[in-house]
Amino acid sequence: MEHTDNQYDVIIVGAGPAGCSCAHELLKNNKKVLILDKAQFPRHKPCAGGITMKTLKHLPVNIDHLVQHKAQDMIFSFSKKRKIKLNHTKGSCVMVIRDKFDEFFFNETVKAGAAFTKINKINKIKLIEKRISITFDDKTYSCDYLIGADGANSVVRKLTSSFNYKNPVFAYEGLVEKKGTDYPTEFIFNKYGYAWIFPKGNHYNVGIGNLISSSKSKNLTKKDLYNFVSDRFQASKLEDITAFPIGTEGDNYRAQNNIFLVGDAAGLAESLLGEGIYNAVLSGKFAGSSIADSYNNNISAEVAYNKFLLHLTNELKLYRKGAKILYGFPRISYWMMRFGLGKKFMDGYSEGKTLSEIMGKKSIFAN
Ligand SMILES: Cc1cc2nc3c(=O)[nH]c(=O)nc-3n(C[C@H](O)[C@H](O)[C@H](O)COP(=O)(O)OP(=O)(O)OC[C@H]3O[C@@H](n4cnc5c(N)ncnc54)[C@H](O)[C@@H]3O)c2cc1C
Repeated sequence: MEHTDNQYDVIIVGAGPAGCSCAHELLKNNKKVLILDKAQFPRHKPCAGGITMKTLKHLPVNIDHLVQHKAQDMIFSFSKKRKIKLNHTKGSCVMVIRDKFDEFFFNETVKAGAAFTKINKINKIKLIEKRISITFDDKTYSCDYLIGADGANSVVRKLTSSFNYKNPVFAYEGLVEKKGTDYPTEFIFNKYGYAWIFPKGNHYNVGIGNLISSSKSKNLTKKDLYNFVSDRFQASKLEDITAFPIGTEGDNYRAQNNIFLVGDAAGLAESLLGEGIYNAVLSGKFAGSSIADSYNNNISAEVAYNKFLLHLTNELKLYRKGAKILYGFPRISYWMMRFGLGKKFMDGYSEGKTLSEIMGKKSIFAN
């Protein structure tokens, strides 16, 4: 759809889960919303497509028809001999094909009333009195609020803040055809990070990532993914390999000047297992509701969103502590998981709990 109108309440850059979630919340409150994305949908996003039960509680669309598998059985492997097998009838997460999930979410968002423009390049973003102007492909539009939902390599973040990622986590993923044996969902931990096997309808999504990234840690390569697959699947072919950073460094990010970063753009993915869709959906939703409330009640959207970020980033710090133990002390982690913690996690994830809820704290985010 082409637009001649260039004034909006909110312009959202990026139509992934964070951007679409934000748009839904704003559209529900009758705001005029434009979404810009450099891609036309459907498009590929490197991702394993595991969506946790807590995410489903916040998603504004029903995705039952996209579910290819439920992770009722899960294995956490610390070595070939040290494996923890877990089970829950509800399943800890649902498996979707990420590209199909994003395409559906995007189409539903446009149906709900968002305007969309495919762009090539954002040239500049400027504050003009109380409005924000954004120039892309030599056209200038303006809005009251700008949302940066443009993922881990966010251009909105780079153009409007000094916040940057120091050690971006990088993950590779690919597909292995399903033949013979059925493998359950599995996380495999090693000294460099983790690998995963996520079952889908006719294939497995497999991948590797390094979640305790520091300047000293090994950079994983495509070859490491090939080695993992040849070790686990013998003759099976690995196809469609892609890689992308995961934004996990947003512990101290706070919004300013009515420009709100959400999802991976704000570094809100967790660093224990690399789950980012939940925080993308949640932060998009809260950015949207903070803005809608500010129009309705004349309260500061920025204050409300930053209050939400304070809670969310405290939760992210909890994941970071968990990651330090899991990857730094695998032996202790194995025994802790074996003697109760594994079951507690499986049950908590399957019941749609957050990490703090699993650890016995009160719910922070209302559904
Ligand atoms: C290999 C891998 C596996 C993963 N597996 C999982 C998983 O199983 N479960 C899970 O929860 N998380 C997973 N994650 C993390 C998850 O993919 C991200 O956290 C999530 O996609 C973040 O959503 P988002 O909407 O913030 O950004 P994105 O999904 O990255 O969406 C950003 C959007 O912005 C657009 N965009 C980017 N730059 C521009 C620009 N300059 N101008 C306009 N548009 C732009 C893009 O085209 C895209 O549509 C994985 C990540 C990787 C790399």
